[in-house]
Amino acid sequence: MLRDAQCIFCRIVAVELPAAVVYEDDVVVAFLDINPLADGHLLIVPREHLAQLTELSADKCGRLFSCVPKLGRALLNVTGAAGFNVLVNSGQVAGQVVPHVHLHLIPRVAADDLGYRWHAKHYAPNRAPELAGAFQQALARF
Ligand code: AMP
Ligand code: ZN
Repeated sequence: MLRDAQCIFCRIVAVELPAAVVYEDDVVVAFLDINPLADGHLLIVPREHLAQLTELSADKCGRLFSCVPKLGRALLNVTGAAGFNVLVNSGQVAGQVVPHVHLHLIPRVAADDLGYRWHAKHYAPNRAPELAGAFQQALARF
């Protein structure tokens, strides 16, 4: 199993660094984010040091995401939040700081100050079918 001795999350998985662990199994560990956006902000990480979602096998990715319903129910129950955001920053340009895959579960309540709405654009005519075709061709290769 891949591990990076310098990686904060690998070190948490190996219990070399402290963390408020809420759940663990043979594939994943979930713990409280040390700088929470809200009380109860969770991180779920695979035990293996893989930097991005694109490096995970479908099985391991499935195991990572399969924790979300149960952890989400616990999060709602413990924090009293009305909902939560599931966020993955994949790549530095997308805001990823720790290069070890992690899901954020961020508790939300009405009128909190977190926000999230981005400026959505519109497709030019024909662009969507063109892109869909490019995806279909790419998916045949990956
Ligand atoms: P990201 O920007 O998606 O890479 O998020 C990394 C997250 O890891 C941030 O929300 C940090 O607050 C969190 N983090 C960094 N170090 C620790 C740590 N030692 N224990 C728990 N969370 C951490
Ligand atoms: Zn790591």
